[in-house]
Amino acid sequence: MKKKQFKTESQKLLDMMINSIYTHKEIFLRELISNASDAIDKLYFRSLTDSAVSLSRADYSIFIKADKAARTLTISDNGCGMSAEELERNLGTIAKSGSFDFKREGMGDENVDIIGQFGVGFYSAFMVAKKIEVLSRPYGSEVGTLWASEGIDGYTVSEAEKASFGTEITLYIKDDSEDERYSEFLEEYRIRELVKKYSDYIRYPIKMTVVRRELKEGTEDEYEERERTDTLNSMTPIWKKNSAEVTPEEYAAFYSERFYDFEKPARVITQKSEGGATFTALMFVPSRAPFNFYTKDFERGLQLYSSGVMIMESCADLLPDYFGFVRGVVDSSDLSLNISRELLQHDRQLRVMARAIEKKIKSELEKMMREDREAYEKFFDAFGSVLKYGLYSDFGAHKDTLKDLVLFPSTSGKYVSLKEYVEAMGEGQSAIYYAAGDSAEKIEMLPQLEAVKSRGYEVLYLTDEVDEFAIRMLEKYDGHEFKNITADALDISSEDEKAAERDENGKREEMLLFMKEAVGTVSAVRFSASLSSGPVCLSSEGELSTQMAKILSRMPGAEGAPEASVVLEINMNHPIAERLVTLYDVDRDKLARYAKILYAEACLIGGIPINNPKELTELISGLMI
Ligand code: ADP
Repeated sequence: MKKKQFKTESQKLLDMMINSIYTHKEIFLRELISNASDAIDKLYFRSLTDSAVSLSRADYSIFIKADKAARTLTISDNGCGMSAEELERNLGTIAKSGSFDFKREGMGDENVDIIGQFGVGFYSAFMVAKKIEVLSRPYGSEVGTLWASEGIDGYTVSEAEKASFGTEITLYIKDDSEDERYSEFLEEYRIRELVKKYSDYIRYPIKMTVVRRELKEGTEDEYEERERTDTLNSMTPIWKKNSAEVTPEEYAAFYSERFYDFEKPARVITQKSEGGATFTALMFVPSRAPFNFYTKDFERGLQLYSSGVMIMESCADLLPDYFGFVRGVVDSSDLSLNISRELLQHDRQLRVMARAIEKKIKSELEKMMREDREAYEKFFDAFGSVLKYGLYSDFGAHKDTLKDLVLFPSTSGKYVSLKEYVEAMGEGQSAIYYAAGDSAEKIEMLPQLEAVKSRGYEVLYLTDEVDEFAIRMLEKYDGHEFKNITADALDISSEDEKAAERDENGKREEMLLFMKEAVGTVSAVRFSASLSSGPVCLSSEGELSTQMAKILSRMPGAEGAPEASVVLEINMNHPIAERLVTLYDVDRDKLARYAKILYAEACLIGGIPINNPKELTELISGLMI
């Protein structure tokens, strides 16, 4: 029989398949099953309009048979089947539908994941088979055709007997090599596993005949081998069911089985969309972060199905980074396996879906915050910093999505949202006050905190590294400015206090300048009337707060990171103020030493690292002798 040649483009793809180093060779089964399912769809749709096709839905199925001795795996269907011409056209070339242009770009190995993401159809079987036979007979025809190929050097087409309509594909599985075990694709457990993983929700039953050793009837210890036909797929996906028909336990069971988390999800989100894109989504907000969540090993994304066929395990494009903790499944009929190969179209559809999904997650989280505060706070403990990074990222582009989802601890002793903060503001308060530090305990030691509290203002505690950066990105909430209570420009003093400060600072200008020079690293030393206790504190001037400067200096490659411009404030109502004034007249050396010590005190209380601890200990020891 004369061998026919594959079309050139097909040859290239074939070559790529045969020599594939792709690690997910297993996807060939998914491809063949979905082809079978498509073929059944075609016949099924014909039966709806063509009375010559007298079949009911229940008649259809896909059969898998593994024969270990012959090393063959057979996938058969009772779908539309193919004539000799159709076999040549469909399997001799793949250059239809513009899909090839896209595939050609995918020839280099850096792009091999295209196989995993979009599938490459029938030819993927050459990743595991050294020879393939396709025996097919169209519905309503008496003539069967056998197409056979051993790969690159072509294929043959000949007339052949086939008892009934449909297609039967036989793969002659490759021999095992040192690094590849192809035999696994003949194992019952492996086939079950692959069908579950990739094709569980195919609408037609996928059956397999299995042999079981069972007790012989009427005997107690005699066994016989009996054949049984199992259906391997569950056909109706849980996300296609009406959510009222699914119990929370069923959702939780699906979640933990699918996403390997044994803690119940904090929230189940179901979405059916028929607007810009038609899709169904079932998503979960986990109660805790997976152990690798904050590492680069974590794979963000949703599982993507096209009408019940999994086409991507983790589609990152469906989730924005700041909702990266959401797990789930998205199934769209707009993304048939065929359509998905056309990259552009695929992209646009996906973007529409991603936008709808983002909106849904946002509204569900807001609802959760309202309806189940305890669960929301627990969720926020696990994932809050992801939301705050989201606020900060892309120059604040997502702030409208995220600003009402973040919580901060505060002087109220509990978590508050920005909305709650503003609602609780008294008359005469226009700014939102916050303090940044390493922990709530440290923040509560800040001398300025008491001063702000005593005016009846609530203060947000920013204890996450990202917090102050995120708040700065927000600029304002609901028209209210954010103010750092350790900023020099805080301006909460009363008019009387301000007058007293002006007066004192004016009178002591020379002395304060002397102290500034003595300390060296501050931009000014000033008297303050608004501190209620403690002798000193630090406040920062300008854009960068001391906490932000500290965080920047911790980052890798931080040499040359900007430093905050700091003012040393001295409580003018503290007895130490008077002492300093006296020293300026009688012992300036001592005043210089005291200035350094006071600066170190202010650093300690403000959580700022001491630059020269050796000098400080010497200064303090000096006080003792
Ligand atoms: P795709 O499925 O993306 O079109 P394939 O290479 O997998 O690409 O298949 C090429 C064509 O062969 C299909 O479009 C279909 O027309 C035909 N085909 C493949 N498998 C079957 C089958 N089991 N029954 C009928 N037709 C099939």
